[in-house]
Amino acid sequence: MLRRQFIRNMSLTAAAISPAASALASCSSGKKDKLGIALVGLGGYASGQLAPALLETKHCYLSGIVTGTPAKEKIWADKYSIPKKNIYNYDTFDKISSNPDIDIIYIVLPVALHKEFTIRAAKAGKHVICEKPMAVSVADCQEMISACKQADKLLSIGYRLHFEPYNQEMMRLGQQKVYGALKEIDCANGYTWGNNTTAWRLKKNLAGGGGLMDMGVYAIQGARYVTGEEPVFVTAREEKKRPELFKEVDETIYFTLEFPSGCIAQGISSYNMNINHLKVKAAKGDFELSEAYRYGGMAGKTPAGQMNFPQINQQAAQMDDFALCVKNGKPTRVPGEMGLKDMKVVEAIYRSIASGKKEPV
Ligand code: NAD
Repeated sequence: MLRRQFIRNMSLTAAAISPAASALASCSSGKKDKLGIALVGLGGYASGQLAPALLETKHCYLSGIVTGTPAKEKIWADKYSIPKKNIYNYDTFDKISSNPDIDIIYIVLPVALHKEFTIRAAKAGKHVICEKPMAVSVADCQEMISACKQADKLLSIGYRLHFEPYNQEMMRLGQQKVYGALKEIDCANGYTWGNNTTAWRLKKNLAGGGGLMDMGVYAIQGARYVTGEEPVFVTAREEKKRPELFKEVDETIYFTLEFPSGCIAQGISSYNMNINHLKVKAAKGDFELSEAYRYGGMAGKTPAGQMNFPQINQQAAQMDDFALCVKNGKPTRVPGEMGLKDMKVVEAIYRSIASGKKEPV
């Protein structure tokens, strides 16, 4: 009895110390309460959003990191109680295969590196979350999906808005035709680029493309999840106000998506405009989000009035949902196939800009 009491007390103490210790404590009972996530690439999004969100998650925690910058190792180890054995660099990455603390690998690298690290993660026998946009091409997306299938591991894309109540309401209103048939969608996402001239986002070989890949993907997603349909034709044109900066990638793109039901989406992606909305005209009334795609501060209205939902930690909800999918062997609602569908639209948009014509998706 005394021994059992002692072990229980130790577990409770460990749980109070750190998320890692807490997960370890639950592990000793034979079943992991929380799955371990390793972040790959400790840049802005990993440090500003994902790591803090992993302090709020119920079903997963930050168990490891992969970084090419040695100076970050100690800072992150201290801040998030990450043991040295769970810290990797891009060369030692594949050794993660023998680390039972890491169940899920979350890739938060420049887009051109998503394919390589997704495939390496799957080969290491880990489930994968890969940031958006999924990859630089449809062909790369297909390879990533195949690698995860072959390894029998789940692959999900960091589409946080599928877990966000305002966007979920837009999906419901659109897909269930609550206000009748959808006629037009106005979807736009962009921000004004500052003075950074060296960022990877400006380099085609790392980013794959510009504002369309980075910001436009949200607008494409919005049109797709409000209609619940795949666009069949795309027409697009490009505009550059700072061509000296956007030498290699697109700055602003205007695109039109034609859906099988007849609904038309007019989209804008931009590195030169502060725009952030998803507006829908339906037969019996209009509904919209404006702010639509940010981490918080969502606002929306319908013919019934202002939307009023909680503002949640989107990243925590997204990662918890994936951890539950892994634990329960269930499919994710934001799989690699969804990232692939968006890339098909992106490629059709680039084709239309090049040809000056309407292009099939
Ligand atoms: P970032 O530049 O802040 O971080 C990128 C990280 O990758 C850095 O730590 C950098 O050191 C590392 N890196 C490794 N190899 C590199 C190389 N060859 N060149 C440049 N950097 C290299 O970028 P970020 O904003 O964190 O974006 C990372 C990924 O996350 C992108 O795919 C981006 O689209 C995605 N993202 C998603 C959201 C979202 O809301 N879901 C938000 C921001 C970024």
